[in-house]
Amino acid sequence: MNNFFKKISFGLHLDPMVEKINGHRRYIPEGKKAVLIIYADFELGWAWRYSKINGDPGRLAEIKGLNERKNVPYILDACDNYSIPVTWATVGHLFLDKCIKGGVSAHPEIKRYGYFENLFWKYESGDWFDADPCTDVKTNPAWYCPDLIKQIRAVRTEHEIGCHTFSHIDCSDENCPPDVFDSEIKECIRLASAEGIELKSFVHPAHTIGNLDGLIKNGFNSYRTDYNNILGYPEKYNGKLWHFKSTWEFVLFKEWSIRYHINRYIEILRRALMNETVCVFWFHPSMDIRFFEEVFPSVCEYINRNREIIEVTTASGYADFLEKNGL
Ligand SMILES: [Zn+2]
Ligand SMILES: [Zn+2]
Repeated sequence: MNNFFKKISFGLHLDPMVEKINGHRRYIPEGKKAVLIIYADFELGWAWRYSKINGDPGRLAEIKGLNERKNVPYILDACDNYSIPVTWATVGHLFLDKCIKGGVSAHPEIKRYGYFENLFWKYESGDWFDADPCTDVKTNPAWYCPDLIKQIRAVRTEHEIGCHTFSHIDCSDENCPPDVFDSEIKECIRLASAEGIELKSFVHPAHTIGNLDGLIKNGFNSYRTDYNNILGYPEKYNGKLWHFKSTWEFVLFKEWSIRYHINRYIEILRRALMNETVCVFWFHPSMDIRFFEEVFPSVCEYINRNREIIEVTTASGYADFLEKNGL
């Protein structure tokens, strides 16, 4: 859909789609009219190595990684100004301050899958970790960032560190065997727990949904999808794993004015309040920083003003609420 039609379908209330279910109130805390969760897919260079959108994915990965590094402190400040918590779905490799080539390739402890192509990536030669510089955070800051993870945990606002696999893999059942998924996730859990972090919330890279039983086995209690733009309610997979549905991505389209962007996100929140739903926003921290300078503060100001009726929480905060209520 081009950006003009996005405006039209938004104006007609077709996007985001509003779910109607019986007994919806049980998903919204008492006294509130909506739930808001904001996710950051935190990955530095890892997401872009096999990208099909650029002729030189290695260079794109560096640029995106360094951009993200530059942006994260601004994003944290913006969140602190309005006490807005974010669920940082973090690539496990970012916990490392260095790594070395073990034998012939990087990370021999991580199992590998075969070559594949999906909507966004094409992996057709070499080793999955070929782009890993196997150096350290000082030499190649686009591939490691324990410093930023520490910053996220040190700020006033209580953010959540979630999981986005160890090396930003395709998690679909079609491309990722359970033992590969398991070795990636186990490494994330090992690195996070060394920092005293318990990983509970998961985001599949590029929304390659799969290996859900592997998530349950490893103690996760939620994941996020993006099948459609939805203002709706969570569902539960296998009685154990909460499924949260994306409402809209934070974007900055050059065809739209700053004012329109602000009004649009506020209008989405208004619709969440009017229909008493869950609203899930997500973004790439490598995005144009002007979003956080010019759009985000006004949206946060609206959220803050309506805090009494909007439950502003993290993915695991919301999963805890659902569990406590016997859902
Ligand atoms: Zn490495
Ligand atoms: Zn990602």
